Amino acid sequence: MHIVRNYPNVNWKCLWTNLYTAWISDTQRSKWYMMIHDLTPTNDRLAAIKLTETNRCSTCEAIDTTHRLTLCGESKLIWNWTRARIAAITRTKLLYVPETWTLRPVFLICPSPQRHKDIMWMLAHLVNYHMQGKRRISLLDYIEFMRRARWKADSPPTRRTAVGNYLSILDPPSSRTTHTPQARHTLGRLPLAVIYTLSAA
Ligand SMILES: [Zn+2]
Repeated sequence: MHIVRNYPNVNWKCLWTNLYTAWISDTQRSKWYMMIHDLTPTNDRLAAIKLTETNRCSTCEAIDTTHRLTLCGESKLIWNWTRARIAAITRTKLLYVPETWTLRPVFLICPSPQRHKDIMWMLAHLVNYHMQGKRRISLLDYIEFMRRARWKADSPPTRRTAVGNYLSILDPPSSRTTHTPQARHTLGRLPLAVIYTLSAA
Protein backbone atom coordinates (compact mmCIF):
# COMPACT_ATOMS: atom_id res chain seq x y z
CA MET A 1 0.00 0.00 0.00
CA HIS A 2 1.16 3.47 -0.93
CA ILE A 3 0.90 4.86 2.62
CA VAL A 4 2.76 1.91 4.13
CA ARG A 5 5.60 2.39 1.63
CA ASN A 6 5.78 6.11 2.44
CA TYR A 7 6.19 5.49 6.16
CA PRO A 8 8.38 2.40 6.49
CA ASN A 9 9.23 3.18 10.13
CA VAL A 10 5.65 3.01 11.30
CA ASN A 11 4.51 -0.14 13.05
CA TRP A 12 1.54 -0.72 10.76
CA LYS A 13 0.55 -3.96 12.46
CA CYS A 14 0.06 -2.09 15.73
CA LEU A 15 -1.76 0.70 13.92
CA TRP A 16 -4.27 -1.65 12.23
CA THR A 17 -4.82 -3.55 15.46
CA ASN A 18 -5.52 -0.28 17.28
CA LEU A 19 -7.88 0.85 14.54
CA TYR A 20 -9.82 -2.41 14.24
CA THR A 21 -10.22 -2.91 17.97
CA ALA A 22 -11.20 0.71 18.66
CA TRP A 23 -14.56 1.19 20.37
CA ILE A 24 -16.15 3.18 17.54
CA SER A 25 -18.72 2.59 14.81
CA ASP A 26 -17.78 1.06 11.47
CA THR A 27 -18.54 4.37 9.74
CA GLN A 28 -16.15 6.19 12.05
CA ARG A 29 -13.56 3.48 11.51
CA SER A 30 -13.75 3.72 7.72
CA LYS A 31 -13.52 7.52 7.81
CA TRP A 32 -10.43 7.32 9.97
CA TYR A 33 -9.05 4.65 7.63
CA MET A 34 -9.52 7.04 4.69
CA MET A 35 -7.80 9.84 6.55
CA ILE A 36 -4.86 7.58 7.45
CA HIS A 37 -4.53 6.65 3.78
CA ASP A 38 -4.82 10.28 2.72
CA LEU A 39 -7.83 9.42 0.57
CA THR A 40 -9.87 12.50 1.44
CA PRO A 41 -10.52 15.14 -1.23
CA THR A 42 -7.96 17.72 -0.12
CA ASN A 43 -6.98 20.45 -2.58
CA ASP A 44 -3.58 18.82 -2.90
CA ARG A 45 -5.19 15.63 -4.23
CA LEU A 46 -7.79 17.45 -6.32
CA ALA A 47 -5.15 19.69 -7.92
CA ALA A 48 -3.11 16.62 -8.85
CA ILE A 49 -6.02 15.38 -10.99
CA LYS A 50 -6.85 18.89 -12.23
CA LEU A 51 -10.15 19.20 -10.40
CA THR A 52 -9.11 22.41 -8.72
CA GLU A 53 -6.69 25.18 -9.64
CA THR A 54 -4.80 25.41 -6.39
CA ASN A 55 -3.33 22.88 -4.02
CA ARG A 56 -3.43 25.49 -1.24
CA CYS A 57 -5.79 25.56 1.70
CA SER A 58 -8.41 28.32 1.53
CA THR A 59 -8.06 29.01 5.26
CA CYS A 60 -4.32 29.15 5.87
CA GLU A 61 -2.69 29.01 2.42
CA ALA A 62 -0.57 26.01 3.38
CA ILE A 63 -0.53 23.08 0.97
CA ASP A 64 -3.88 21.47 1.66
CA THR A 65 -3.19 17.99 2.97
CA THR A 66 -4.34 16.30 6.15
CA HIS A 67 -3.00 19.42 7.96
CA ARG A 68 -6.64 20.29 8.66
CA LEU A 69 -6.66 17.84 11.58
CA THR A 70 -4.24 19.66 13.83
CA LEU A 71 -2.56 22.57 12.09
CA CYS A 72 -5.09 24.70 10.25
CA GLY A 73 -6.80 27.70 11.90
CA GLU A 74 -9.18 26.71 14.68
CA SER A 75 -8.20 23.05 14.37
CA LYS A 76 -5.05 23.89 16.35
CA LEU A 77 -7.25 24.89 19.30
CA ILE A 78 -9.37 21.80 18.83
CA TRP A 79 -6.32 19.57 18.79
CA ASN A 80 -4.86 21.20 21.90
CA TRP A 81 -8.18 20.82 23.74
CA THR A 82 -8.25 17.11 22.86
CA ARG A 83 -4.60 16.64 23.59
CA ALA A 84 -4.93 18.21 27.05
CA ARG A 85 -7.65 15.67 27.89
CA ILE A 86 -5.59 12.77 26.61
CA ALA A 87 -2.68 14.02 28.70
CA ALA A 88 -4.96 14.25 31.75
CA ILE A 89 -6.20 10.70 31.29
CA THR A 90 -2.69 9.36 30.98
CA ARG A 91 -1.40 11.80 33.62
CA THR A 92 1.36 12.78 31.31
CA LYS A 93 2.59 15.97 29.66
CA LEU A 94 1.19 17.41 26.43
CA LEU A 95 4.58 16.77 24.93
CA TYR A 96 3.97 13.03 25.07
CA VAL A 97 0.79 13.28 23.04
CA PRO A 98 2.06 13.93 19.53
CA GLU A 99 -0.19 15.16 16.74
CA THR A 100 0.95 12.23 14.60
CA TRP A 101 -1.44 10.06 16.66
CA THR A 102 -4.34 11.45 14.64
CA LEU A 103 -2.94 9.84 11.49
CA ARG A 104 -0.75 7.10 12.92
CA PRO A 105 -2.09 5.86 16.24
CA VAL A 106 0.77 3.53 17.05
CA PHE A 107 0.72 3.64 20.80
CA LEU A 108 -0.08 1.34 23.63
CA ILE A 109 -1.25 2.64 26.99
CA CYS A 110 -0.33 0.41 29.88
CA PRO A 111 -1.56 -0.90 32.14
CA SER A 112 -5.08 0.23 31.27
CA PRO A 113 -6.93 -1.09 28.21
CA GLN A 114 -9.83 1.23 29.14
CA ARG A 115 -7.68 4.32 28.92
CA HIS A 116 -6.22 3.08 25.65
CA LYS A 117 -9.73 2.62 24.22
CA ASP A 118 -10.84 5.98 25.52
CA ILE A 119 -7.96 7.74 23.76
CA MET A 120 -8.68 5.89 20.51
CA TRP A 121 -12.34 6.93 20.90
CA MET A 122 -11.36 10.59 21.26
CA LEU A 123 -8.95 10.53 18.32
CA ALA A 124 -11.54 8.83 16.10
CA HIS A 125 -14.11 11.48 17.00
CA LEU A 126 -11.63 14.26 16.33
CA VAL A 127 -10.96 12.87 12.85
CA ASN A 128 -14.67 12.35 12.22
CA TYR A 129 -15.46 15.90 13.29
CA HIS A 130 -13.11 17.19 10.63
CA MET A 131 -14.69 14.97 7.99
CA GLN A 132 -18.24 16.19 8.45
CA GLY A 133 -17.91 18.42 5.41
CA LYS A 134 -18.81 21.53 7.36
CA ARG A 135 -17.39 24.76 6.04
CA ARG A 136 -16.80 26.35 9.43
CA ILE A 137 -15.34 24.53 12.37
CA SER A 138 -15.00 25.95 15.85
CA LEU A 139 -13.79 24.83 19.22
CA LEU A 140 -17.19 25.50 20.81
CA ASP A 141 -18.96 23.48 18.15
CA TYR A 142 -16.43 20.67 18.57
CA ILE A 143 -16.86 20.61 22.37
CA GLU A 144 -20.61 20.29 21.83
CA PHE A 145 -20.05 17.54 19.23
CA MET A 146 -17.87 15.61 21.70
CA ARG A 147 -20.33 16.08 24.52
CA ARG A 148 -23.19 14.73 22.43
CA ALA A 149 -21.07 11.78 21.31
CA ARG A 150 -20.04 11.10 24.89
CA TRP A 151 -23.67 11.00 26.07
CA LYS A 152 -24.61 8.76 23.17
CA ALA A 153 -21.71 6.49 24.05
CA ASP A 154 -22.95 6.39 27.61
CA SER A 155 -26.15 4.62 26.65
CA PRO A 156 -25.06 1.09 25.72
CA PRO A 157 -24.44 -1.24 28.64
CA THR A 158 -21.00 -2.08 27.25
CA ARG A 159 -19.65 1.36 28.10
CA ARG A 160 -18.06 0.56 31.42
CA THR A 161 -16.13 -2.42 30.24
CA ALA A 162 -14.96 -0.60 27.11
CA VAL A 163 -13.93 2.82 28.35
CA GLY A 164 -14.90 2.98 32.02
CA ASN A 165 -15.52 6.42 33.47
CA TYR A 166 -12.74 8.05 31.58
CA LEU A 167 -14.91 9.85 29.04
CA SER A 168 -16.09 12.10 31.86
CA ILE A 169 -12.92 14.04 31.09
CA LEU A 170 -15.00 15.60 28.30
CA ASP A 171 -17.52 17.09 30.71
CA PRO A 172 -17.17 20.73 31.70
CA PRO A 173 -15.16 21.07 34.93
CA SER A 174 -18.20 22.38 36.85
CA SER A 175 -20.31 19.30 36.11
CA ARG A 176 -17.33 17.04 36.74
CA THR A 177 -17.14 18.23 40.31
CA THR A 178 -20.82 18.66 41.12
CA HIS A 179 -22.69 16.01 39.17
CA THR A 180 -20.33 13.13 38.76
CA PRO A 181 -18.41 12.64 42.00
CA GLN A 182 -17.70 9.09 41.01
CA ALA A 183 -15.98 10.22 37.83
CA ARG A 184 -13.95 12.77 39.75
CA HIS A 185 -12.94 10.05 42.12
CA THR A 186 -11.77 7.86 39.24
CA LEU A 187 -9.87 10.60 37.43
CA GLY A 188 -8.37 12.03 40.60
CA ARG A 189 -6.86 8.74 41.58
CA LEU A 190 -5.52 7.64 38.25
CA PRO A 191 -2.22 5.90 38.40
CA LEU A 192 0.38 7.04 35.93
CA ALA A 193 0.07 5.44 32.53
CA VAL A 194 2.99 4.29 30.50
CA ILE A 195 2.77 5.24 26.86
CA TYR A 196 4.61 3.05 24.44
CA THR A 197 5.06 4.37 20.96
CA LEU A 198 5.76 1.38 18.83
CA SER A 199 8.12 1.59 15.93
CA ALA A 200 8.42 -0.86 13.07
CA ALA A 201 9.89 -4.20 14.02
ZN1 LIG B 1 -5.24 25.25 6.25
